[in-house]
Amino acid sequence: MSKVDLYCVMGNPVEHSRSPWIHARFAELTGQTLRYERRQVQPDGFAQAIADFRTDLAGHARGCNITVPFKFEAAALARHLSERARLAGAANTLRFEDDGIHGDNTDGIGLVNDITLHAGAALAGRDLLLIGAGGAAAGVLGPLIEAGIRRVVVANRTPDKAAALVQRHAALASAHQTVLEACRLDDVAGAFDVVVNATAASLAGADVPVAASVLAPGTLAIDMMYGPAAAGFLDWARAHGATARDGLGMLVEQAAEAFRIWRGVRPPAAQVLAELRAVIG
Ligand code: NAP
Repeated sequence: MSKVDLYCVMGNPVEHSRSPWIHARFAELTGQTLRYERRQVQPDGFAQAIADFRTDLAGHARGCNITVPFKFEAAALARHLSERARLAGAANTLRFEDDGIHGDNTDGIGLVNDITLHAGAALAGRDLLLIGAGGAAAGVLGPLIEAGIRRVVVANRTPDKAAALVQRHAALASAHQTVLEACRLDDVAGAFDVVVNATAASLAGADVPVAASVLAPGTLAIDMMYGPAAAGFLDWARAHGATARDGLGMLVEQAAEAFRIWRGVRPPAAQVLAELRAVIG
């Protein structure tokens, strides 16, 4: 009997992840047969978890999504990296092939599509504050620059990581005439057209990591988190006159691109996003 193609999301924590629901729905809507699970991975157990998944007897492991905090490790583990994953130094989508693990990063296209297609906001010529310098921030910086952003400030709790991320993207920013800066969370000055919280602060139940002075009336303020954990950031943004948006649209759009990479067909992301919002309420 042939085994079903198997995928999963790996991370820590991972119980909150809506990826299994999204990929099951994508499979239904595109007539694909597959199974998609979530796997919680111990902090020092990522490489072993990938090896275990690939030899799982329940199915043919074809690939996986990687979430917090393993995206850098995932890129390091891959034998082949797409250009966008190489620039990010982080991978959120792995594909298992006979010639080894292929790593890609779909977070950037996910965020850009959510902002431009679902939120209906323009990115070209805008000023954007990117809070965080972890795997998620690394994945979105290149695609934001390519979308024509005028200026990006990367602010992180550990400033050296923000500086390294900016350094890695300096040539791309220069090619697109994007002003790119790194700073400490306390040193962010002025207000922005778009503010993206790419930290794990909401996931950890911590306070919003920047001052409200980064917001102006009409600022689009996005937390990559979704569900109840995003509520604090969204309330904070609305209370200061911003348009608040959670990470659900980005989640569905990055998943749609991963699904395309794995299955060769692009699922109807807008429909699945609407359905997911209805399910979550
Ligand atoms: P990561 O690689 O572990 O990076 C975590 C980042 O958050 C680092 O910049 C870290 O700063 C910062 N941070 C953690 N706790 C903080 C706090 N209390 N205050 C200020 N900064 C804090 O994780 P990741 O993969 O980038 O993921 C980050 C978040 O984005 C997660 O919540 C994840 O679920 C979400 N995400 C959502 C989507 C989506 O599709 N919606 C996609 C990707 C990620 P230091 O460098 O100082 O440690």
